[in-house]
Amino acid sequence: MSDIIVVGAGPVGLWTAIQLKLHYPALQILMLEKHAKYQRSHTVKIDETSFKESHSNPEFQKLIAPLVGLVSTNVLEQTLKNYALKLGIEIRNEAVTSCQALVEKYPEAKIVIGADGSHSVVRKDIFEDKKNNKDLQYVAEIKYEVEGDSQPFSIWSQIYDPLLKVNHLVTEHVGKQNQNGKTPVTLRVFVDQNTFNGITQATFKDPYYWTKEDKNKMDPKLVQTIEIWLKEREKTFKDKIVKNSIKISSLKLNAYHSEKVVDQKYNKQWVLVGDAAFGVPYFRSLNNGLLCGSKLAEKISAFLQGQFDETQTSVLGFRWTKKISPLGSYSTFVSELAKYEKWIAALKTEGINVLSTQLSMVKTLLGIGIIGKQEEASVPGRMMVVGLTAIAGACLYSAMLSTKDKDEKKNFKTKTETPSSTKPKCK
Ligand SMILES: Cc1cc2nc3c(=O)[nH]c(=O)nc-3n(C[C@H](O)[C@H](O)[C@H](O)COP(=O)(O)OP(=O)(O)OC[C@H]3O[C@@H](n4cnc5c(N)ncnc54)[C@H](O)[C@@H]3O)c2cc1C
Repeated sequence: MSDIIVVGAGPVGLWTAIQLKLHYPALQILMLEKHAKYQRSHTVKIDETSFKESHSNPEFQKLIAPLVGLVSTNVLEQTLKNYALKLGIEIRNEAVTSCQALVEKYPEAKIVIGADGSHSVVRKDIFEDKKNNKDLQYVAEIKYEVEGDSQPFSIWSQIYDPLLKVNHLVTEHVGKQNQNGKTPVTLRVFVDQNTFNGITQATFKDPYYWTKEDKNKMDPKLVQTIEIWLKEREKTFKDKIVKNSIKISSLKLNAYHSEKVVDQKYNKQWVLVGDAAFGVPYFRSLNNGLLCGSKLAEKISAFLQGQFDETQTSVLGFRWTKKISPLGSYSTFVSELAKYEKWIAALKTEGINVLSTQLSMVKTLLGIGIIGKQEEASVPGRMMVVGLTAIAGACLYSAMLSTKDKDEKKNFKTKTETPSSTKPKCK
């Protein structure tokens, strides 16, 4: 007999279930996961502010303390999964195909949490898949591995040289060296819609490879950008690319959020969390999922204990306190966070556009529209323009593309913070 069912035992589902169990140890939690082994194997950047408001249990805090910075999703998954099992959470290898079938099979569950990722079945069945969706950028994503260790270009001193030589703005994500001694590298080349339309056939599951045949399918300027970037990395870091490892796919960076994340149907409460609830680009989604997971665990626990949250309302100087359901507070929290993160993503997009324009302006100023003619510009003039742009661009680049949005998080204050008096006590 399960009180709570969590659909999807990905990082956010596990994170939420664990904290729910810590808040309310008597709860029977069942997780349904369609894959026996977690399918994703990338490196994520976890900001320590995403652990803010996580359950204060010392054992849990000790467990998550090393999970800050660059972390492999496999390590994150395994750590959380082991701990969930230790706490007595059941994880069953079962795919949920429809919510109605789920209800028939598990009629006793009071709450179902949809933590089943960006293609959530729960969102489709219960929330009619109503999403606010905004396309932000068109990207050619290049993924490959290098032998041994590697690192990204320093945004303060190294990146301007390669950026001035290529035709597009490029960002990098260099992962951690894996057990086989190889390091994954991801390049994102920001392209216009026409260039993007030419590579839509190249998908994550069925990518283009760095072969003559596939190069011919791409815009020559894009091929040139990739070639130059790989050469620059090789020159600077002695990158030795693992043979046949380069894969190119098209990627539309979009921001979406489910119109509703809490609903009642089939006599149960349904809630969305993680990528099922909302997603934003620029490596923020997991961080947001962790923030929402901590909030959701706390609110479900309060809900089950019959507690209410209080919000202050004021009109024409009259103030009064309104009681709202903790799940209503969760819904407002997610909606505020999603709006905020979408705004930040739009700002970053603008930053990328400004930076792209700035770079092409500099190139025009330097008269280096054609690669290799840099030396034609006068040395002092070139140094001045590059210096000024480097300073302005580096500030923009770090502000806009940084995944450590500590200040942003500090500034984010939800209107629905639970007054401390109504917070459920940690058990
Ligand atoms: C290359 C890459 C790099 C990234 N880097 C970062 C980063 O640096 N920082 C960051 O914050 N985010 C990053 N992200 C995003 C991050 O990986 C996701 O936000 C995160 O994995 C979402 O976790 P989740 O648990 O919500 O969903 P998922 O990881 O998608 O997990 C969902 C789980 O539900 C299961 N499931 C799905 N459907 C069903 C079903 N019908 N029945 C049963 N089980 C089901 C799936 O098998 C899966 O295990 C990155 C993503 C990618 C692709």
